Amino acid sequence: MRIYLDYNATSPPAPEVVEIVSRLMATEFGNASSVHAFGQRAKAVLDDARGQIAALIDADPSEIVLTSGGTEADNLAIRGAAEALERTPRRKIVTTGIEHEAVLNTIKALERRGWSATTLTLPETGVLTTDAFRAALDRDTAVVSVMHANNEVGTIQPVAQLASLAREHGALFHTDAVQSVGKIPVSVKQLGVDALSLSGHKFGGPKGTGALWIRRGVRLVSTMTGGRQERNRRAGTENVPLLAGLGVAAQLAAAHLANTARRVSALRDRLEERILATVDGTAVNGDRSARVPNTTNISFDGLEAESLLIALDLEGIAVSTGSACSSGSLEPSHVLRAMGLPSSRARNSLRFSLGASTTETEIEFVAGILPGLVTKLRRLSRTAAALR
Ligand code: PLP
Repeated sequence: MRIYLDYNATSPPAPEVVEIVSRLMATEFGNASSVHAFGQRAKAVLDDARGQIAALIDADPSEIVLTSGGTEADNLAIRGAAEALERTPRRKIVTTGIEHEAVLNTIKALERRGWSATTLTLPETGVLTTDAFRAALDRDTAVVSVMHANNEVGTIQPVAQLASLAREHGALFHTDAVQSVGKIPVSVKQLGVDALSLSGHKFGGPKGTGALWIRRGVRLVSTMTGGRQERNRRAGTENVPLLAGLGVAAQLAAAHLANTARRVSALRDRLEERILATVDGTAVNGDRSARVPNTTNISFDGLEAESLLIALDLEGIAVSTGSACSSGSLEPSHVLRAMGLPSSRARNSLRFSLGASTTETEIEFVAGILPGLVTKLRRLSRTAAALR
């Protein structure tokens, strides 16, 4: 049995998505910018997708810029806004330490161009307080980027309140909603943000697809220079079949979101409760109420999460750590560190992220196998320590 509990990394495409992508690959090869009938048909496909994406986030289709994914959407929002504001006296960007690298490294690149950045740490709950946020805002703040839901712990930020504070200070507010869109209801109107990023492959769409929603009137300089596609906001010939797949995924997400969320959160809670009850030295990281329904991040005392990940993989179970293995050194999760957790705890934490096709049987299997694996690995690590 193979069990996939890594939906926050990527999710399997829905059969309807596979069907439309493969069909249009064969039938709609037109360039959506061409004037002739082939081009107009391709453009109509993109318009449908734009409408489906807009409906999922309660937006106007004309405000959707189709991109190659969440990373590009984050880049376009932050770099594009910063570049558009470069001639104004405001030179500061405010963000949090739990953002995805697509945001953090984009801001670092802007710092190298003379921008300053305030990167807020969070309390252990993983939820930013409005007081801490307000204190970071000043008359120099041009752009704010605070994610909606976090990819590692699943916590949801009070984006509507934060965006309204940013507006009071005249700053532009971007939110990376890659991990919330398709999992919980997202309305750009209710959030009151200026720009919002989403990614197709996180909710059953194809990889390499995404979108940036930009409020009408917000000025952005295109990060991709070239042709005048996407109303001059994103150059490059659109990938019509894949973007049609993103549209279908958005439509399916909108139709099934409430039911899936209810079912998946019950399974996630069951898994969490079973682990906490049967494996000693375990704790859930981050606030357990302000969370997307599919995610739990659990620390296992006295255990390298990486070794538990490998042991689970050998049993056919796919989960993830927040840590990135770069050049042989295992970095503890920057998210858990930004939440003030010690690096030891950041190193022994695993993320379980469920999805639409997760079953009760799978959850029972994982909950049943974990206590034995943890006991075995803890014994091995004690023996290894004694031998050192
Ligand atoms: N933002 C967040 C919060 C993510 O989790 C991810 C993907 O892991 C991204 C951005 C990047 O999205 P993409 O893989 O579509 O480039």
